[in-house]
Amino acid sequence: MSIDVRAYLKPHVHMSLEERLALVKRRFADESHISVDQDAFRADPQKAVLFICPAQVFKHNLDDDSCIVNYEDCLECGTCQVTRRYTTWNNPRGGYGVTYHYG
Ligand code: SF4
Repeated sequence: MSIDVRAYLKPHVHMSLEERLALVKRRFADESHISVDQDAFRADPQKAVLFICPAQVFKHNLDDDSCIVNYEDCLECGTCQVTRRYTTWNNPRGGYGVTYHYG
């Protein structure tokens, strides 16, 4: 497989996060493969997990100061596992999750 370097170096087209996420092929399982220790989340003054996920999976529910996990958007990058210990991430069940296309 060859790569067209000129095409690769063209300026990136502006796309919203939602448009980019729509390009990733995913198959959703019924249950989340990510969980959050809600007490630890509430105790984190920086709530860092809200800012480190490239897919913005984690949202702050201001009504009860909890963390909402939109696991369907997960890109399986693993970043949430190295930044804070109150998230638990497992591989999606076999046959589920993201499928990347290279090239
Ligand atoms: S693995 Fe990556 S994309 Fe998925 S929730 Fe964690 S930081 Fe977000």
